[in-house]
Amino acid sequence: MDFLILLFLITPQLAYSVCPITNCSNPTSPPVRFPFGLDHQQPENCSFPGFDLYCTAQGLTALSLPQSGEFLVRYISYQTQNIRVYDPKNCLPKRFLDGFDPSGSRFQPELYVNYTFLSCPRNFTDARFAIINCLSNDTRSVMATSIHNFAARMARNSCQVIKTLPVPVSWPQNDEFTSTLSDDIWLSWDVPDCKDCEVGGGSCGFQSNNSQQIGCFFDSTGDMDQTKRTKGLRIFRIIAFTIAIPAILCSVAVGVLLCMLDRRDSIGSRANRVVQHIEMTPASQEGTAGLDQDTIDSYTKVVLGESLRIPGLNDGSCSICLSDFGVKEALRCIPDCQHCFHADCIDEWLRMNGICPLCRKSPAHHIPLENS
Ligand SMILES: [Zn+2]
Ligand SMILES: [Zn+2]
Repeated sequence: MDFLILLFLITPQLAYSVCPITNCSNPTSPPVRFPFGLDHQQPENCSFPGFDLYCTAQGLTALSLPQSGEFLVRYISYQTQNIRVYDPKNCLPKRFLDGFDPSGSRFQPELYVNYTFLSCPRNFTDARFAIINCLSNDTRSVMATSIHNFAARMARNSCQVIKTLPVPVSWPQNDEFTSTLSDDIWLSWDVPDCKDCEVGGGSCGFQSNNSQQIGCFFDSTGDMDQTKRTKGLRIFRIIAFTIAIPAILCSVAVGVLLCMLDRRDSIGSRANRVVQHIEMTPASQEGTAGLDQDTIDSYTKVVLGESLRIPGLNDGSCSICLSDFGVKEALRCIPDCQHCFHADCIDEWLRMNGICPLCRKSPAHHIPLENS
């Protein structure tokens, strides 16, 4: 009887265990399993055609794209069907300039954004923009921007346009003028579709050695894991009760103490904290969503006269493109901070980012100052 139960437990597992999980020797290498195959280590029918990976001499996992050559694999998400790859020489921008083309493979990037690569005099760009170090030298800096007007202005200044081309990105990079384009490339695949199976805790695979049908397999050791998890949870609760309650009491006491000290602070240091708060708010949070055209149009636009008298608190140059304001040029100023820029520079910026590029304040949502 016991034997029968054991057999029943093992059978569904057996179907999957013939396809082992493999990985390359480097400890950072991601686990490789269906639909991927590694160096033909798996038995036949354990990987899907077009999902071959291999190990490099350094023991790293690599993927070769038919048109674009070798990339190293940082991570594979079997649930969302993404593979994250990077350049073996850590210079993805060079790979983009050489032409990135995933065609002929099972993979495609989430989206493409057009980037203009600019080569500028080193002293002109240093400390102002994100520089692509692996393409730059002592005299020239290379940078990439997705803002068309910015690229055009920079080209009119002292930069040269190297190339404009679509760059694979996983999400719109919209918080800076220039990007180092050093983030990994996220590639996704649609076929075979194993998302539901993986999300449900199963593992995908061919139903049998000579079948092209995809099946979803569940590992029966999962039942044992469940028991372990329940036991772990109970221990966790005991620990939580013995530690958490004194910890909460303690932090309340510390909080009250800090609060009392805080009230004795001078107004000066309060102002400091406000500044810190603004700087520490990540650009990706509130206020970074672009503004609509009506809102942008509602901001003061002026055309400079012969006197070149610039409104607001501005010196004579646009801090987006760094060039001096000229006669008859249209300027637009952000109402709250009175920072002015070339209209074509700031308009494109505001469409992508709802914050002033100079002081990072959001014209759409006022950042409240602390009042007591
Ligand atoms: Zn400008
Ligand atoms: Zn401003």
